[in-house]
Amino acid sequence: MTDQIRAVLQESRVEQVEIDRYAEEVSALIGTEKVSNNHIDILSTCRDYWPVSSIWMLEGAVPALPQLVVWPQTTEEVSQILALAHERRIPVIPYGEGSGALGGVVPLKGGIMIDMKRMNRIRELDHENLLVTVECGLNGALYEEQLNRSGYTGGHFPQSLRCSTVGGWLACRAAGQFSTRYGKIEDMVVAAEAVLADGTVFRERSVPRTATGPRVDHLFIGSEGVLGVITTATLRIWPLPEKRHLASYTFEKLEDGLEAIRMFMRAGARPAVVRLYDAQETGNHFPELGDKRCALILLIEGAAAIVNGEKDVIEECVSARNAEDTGPEHVKHWLETRFNISAASRLLQKGAVLDTIEVTTNWHNAYSTYSAMQEALKDVEGTMLASGHWSHVYPEGAALYITVVGFPGDDKIVYYKNIWQSAMTACLAEGAAISHHHGIGLHRGQWMAEEHGKGLDVLGRIKNALDPHGIMNPGKLGLGEVRKWQK
Ligand SMILES: Cc1cc2nc3c(=O)[nH]c(=O)nc-3n(C[C@H](O)[C@H](O)[C@H](O)COP(=O)(O)OP(=O)(O)OC[C@H]3O[C@@H](n4cnc5c(N)ncnc54)[C@H](O)[C@@H]3O)c2cc1C
Repeated sequence: MTDQIRAVLQESRVEQVEIDRYAEEVSALIGTEKVSNNHIDILSTCRDYWPVSSIWMLEGAVPALPQLVVWPQTTEEVSQILALAHERRIPVIPYGEGSGALGGVVPLKGGIMIDMKRMNRIRELDHENLLVTVECGLNGALYEEQLNRSGYTGGHFPQSLRCSTVGGWLACRAAGQFSTRYGKIEDMVVAAEAVLADGTVFRERSVPRTATGPRVDHLFIGSEGVLGVITTATLRIWPLPEKRHLASYTFEKLEDGLEAIRMFMRAGARPAVVRLYDAQETGNHFPELGDKRCALILLIEGAAAIVNGEKDVIEECVSARNAEDTGPEHVKHWLETRFNISAASRLLQKGAVLDTIEVTTNWHNAYSTYSAMQEALKDVEGTMLASGHWSHVYPEGAALYITVVGFPGDDKIVYYKNIWQSAMTACLAEGAAISHHHGIGLHRGQWMAEEHGKGLDVLGRIKNALDPHGIMNPGKLGLGEVRKWQK
């Protein structure tokens, strides 16, 4: 069946006889029930949430197809899978839940998908040191639920919480909706265990803030499967908060909202949720607020005394920018609907191309980057909407999240490439970074050289040293040319 499916970006395939021989040998090592070449398994791991995959899927095509799927249950099994693939020069792609937004799991050269879902246990909950050691295939919502049952939170709530894994978070430098208080995933991870392409396993210890040379485990944060497989991680956890305070405000201008946020961050307030919407998104998400002003929603949580103090600091900063207090109800509405993405599927079926583009800026270029990207996107023929909000903030700047919807008619892929080219050009011209949390995957690799300069060569040298045969997730992170997906 998969032979008849068009694999648009497939660059090459390993000889079937090689795959069969590998399947036989790896089955003998890890068990036949953990190895499959069934069509359904091949199809269900061949793609992620990259909008281009969805466009092709509606036309009955896929970006590329793997040749084998394996489900290791232990680190030792991951090591055996990789050592054999390294010896045979067979590509290997780590697979979490396929919620990546940029084609990060697309098996351009075929090979083996390592589906991590059976590595799903919490290995240790350390109450005294507030740490959890978890296997990387654990689903995000199940991770949080298990922590909650013991009185803790992991503090990490990406919109994809229910369809992503802990390993995927680490591999993509993910950000959750509560990141202003709890941090991004790179702030939460204390230590990790990973397996290199040749099967070598290494693990660093979870002792805080070591000065024992560069942390090689931290090199794997953001590595998107190109350096090896992250098998377990030790992460920070927090006691469930004693108090939660919800507040919302509107501002006449976006610049006022940005300045109020900058000032309360400067004063040391760290609300868990800080989201500032432009007027268009305010109208879409909170229709009762209209579409003329810009909404800011805030959620502050923690020990009661700290929450009360933060609330006072924030109220002073927003008043200084003439904010209108619009109460807690809008935040309650947001909390109830924050994981709902059904509108995107409906638009896709109606022929729209829809994507979200997240970048990160300092304060001095936060507004100008928003304006430049929005203008650039509106200039692309077919664009119906280009709106934005800031969803993660720091003392030094903020992440900007742009939503773009277009109805380009038949040539959806050309339109898709055009909007990205326009958005990335505008972003780089403003001095912003090309991604805050979705990562690079396949598609965004084209702008990695502009983003990093010589730094990309350094990353390439590290990759070559750790994976000399280039078997780990070929063509991703801008390392290596992707012939069939050019600018
Ligand atoms: C609707 C929607 C909302 C989203 N919201 C957010 C959000 O709020 N915040 C956010 O940060 N992201 C968000 N994302 C993006 C995506 O969910 C994240 O990138 C997520 O971290 C990917 O996790 P995953 O387990 O699904 O990984 P996958 O998509 O399976 O893999 C992503 C990449 O990581 C690699 N990888 C996966 N597991 C491992 C491992 N154990 N070791 C080494 N490499 C590995 C893969 O090879 C691939 O390159 C969203 C995506 C969608 C579709």
